[in-house]
Amino acid sequence: MGKASKDKRDIYYRKAKEEGWRARSAFKLMQIDQEFNIFHGVKRAVDLCAAPGSWSQVLSRNLYLPAKLTSDGKDGGLPLIVAIDLQPMAPIEGVIQVQGDITNARTAVIRHFDGCKADLVVCDGAPDVTGLHDMDEFVQSQLILAALTIVTHVLKVGGKFVAKIFRGKDTSLLYCQLKLFFSQVTFAKPKSSRNSSIEAFAVCENYSPPEGFKEKDLYHLLEKVGTPSGADDLDCRSGWLEGPNKVYIPFLACGDLSGYDSDRSYPLPSTEGGTYQSLDPVQPPIAPPYKTALEMKKASSHGAGADTGKSSLDP
Ligand code: SAM
Repeated sequence: MGKASKDKRDIYYRKAKEEGWRARSAFKLMQIDQEFNIFHGVKRAVDLCAAPGSWSQVLSRNLYLPAKLTSDGKDGGLPLIVAIDLQPMAPIEGVIQVQGDITNARTAVIRHFDGCKADLVVCDGAPDVTGLHDMDEFVQSQLILAALTIVTHVLKVGGKFVAKIFRGKDTSLLYCQLKLFFSQVTFAKPKSSRNSSIEAFAVCENYSPPEGFKEKDLYHLLEKVGTPSGADDLDCRSGWLEGPNKVYIPFLACGDLSGYDSDRSYPLPSTEGGTYQSLDPVQPPIAPPYKTALEMKKASSHGAGADTGKSSLDP
């Protein structure tokens, strides 16, 4: 599609160029702020998955530049904004850039805050979309898990987190996972986000991690995902988790309060005799759809049994 036809069709694409935004996504963050006032009182912010940088521009224009105008020229006391992406991006005034993967960028972010915590973390991360909704939703949820890991290390209690989500069958699970950490979670669809897109934004307010939660375990979990021993290590019975994290971490990893992941196999429990005894179903189906097939199979094997047991092929 040529530039001119995109200009005609998409008002936000055109306005972004007129107002100097690097991407039309800038309007999504601004519209989220109009509705939720997320920039209020923010002195330190983190922009995860920031390239090409329109959200960082919004942070700079709303937080850094106004403060710079009213400050006496000294850098101290000015808002701090840290942006991370796999891709490099052109400089933005007041934004510290880190090129890296958010799944292991925890320390890079902490280093820049020098012991202080952030008031706001935003994440517009998106994997390359495949068009397979379940797959896209899963990869997106892994990015959110990585973002949440950074949040648990850098966000101050009472802080806010905004993350892009893909609406799908697991949206209510994601809501419950986020609700574990924030007293208020809202899924918002800004006007500038196309209706045809499954994207929406989780706006999470008032960060308040559950009592006894240890954020290092969540980081540990991310390190284990994708390693050869990962699946076994993620098993909450393997002993690396303690206290309330025995429940929280499996819930964050696979959404299951029992800690079992329905997509993997577990070793059979050993019984006293050393062999596992499989139990019959509690109530077998009365009229299963495969009943006729079973009866036919039974009849044919009886038929064969009624025979002398010798077929014409027997020697
Ligand atoms: N918010 C940005 C803006 O307004 O310009 C747009 C972000 S773009 C939709 C999604 C970004 O996520 C891409 O730049 C991509 O490089 C980044 N990304 C995807 N996976 C990432 C990862 N694991 N670590 C860091 N960045 C990642």
